[in-house]
Amino acid sequence: MPIKLLLHVCCAPCSIAVIDELRSKYVLTVFFYNPNIYPEAEYLKRKAEVVRVCDEWQISMVDADYESTKWDKAVAGLEHEPEMGERCPVCFGLRLRRTAEYAAQHGFSLFATSLTMGRNKKAEVINPIGWALADEFGIKFYPEDWKKSGRQIKAKKLVEERGIYRQNYCGCRYSQKKTVIRKQ
Ligand code: SF4
Repeated sequence: MPIKLLLHVCCAPCSIAVIDELRSKYVLTVFFYNPNIYPEAEYLKRKAEVVRVCDEWQISMVDADYESTKWDKAVAGLEHEPEMGERCPVCFGLRLRRTAEYAAQHGFSLFATSLTMGRNKKAEVINPIGWALADEFGIKFYPEDWKKSGRQIKAKKLVEERGIYRQNYCGCRYSQKKTVIRKQ
């Protein structure tokens, strides 16, 4: 019986090669839950590109809520942490918790995330969060370091072929470039 996998995706550039790899092995559903992304216009832009990829390959996608207030509360007190400091594991945990919860509630036995495709996203930080949540919700986590094995090159090609929007910051307001923050 084919295995149903719920894949949390952060954006199209990080997830397109992951989706392409997993869609042939599993009954794949893409899960877009990224309340970290700021501002909302940027959130909508990134989501639209994920929708475009899913439409092209006829993959089911769940558009979860934009719970930006929940994210703000979760990282309160960590605003001045650098990228990959103490704020980021909280951010990963919030997004993966919602994914694991949805997976458990909707009959998925397995969940994964495209997060480790990011240059600064360490698998040794993200995968243990996935395993802990899998234990908590009674499902399995698919651990991977997607930036390995030539997948970043493949992703670049797939993104360029489609003219997919590629952002220049991780996602939250604290990760925006200083030049952008000064304009606000
Ligand atoms: S820098 Fe990226 S991973 Fe870290 S808190 Fe901001 S959006 Fe989340």
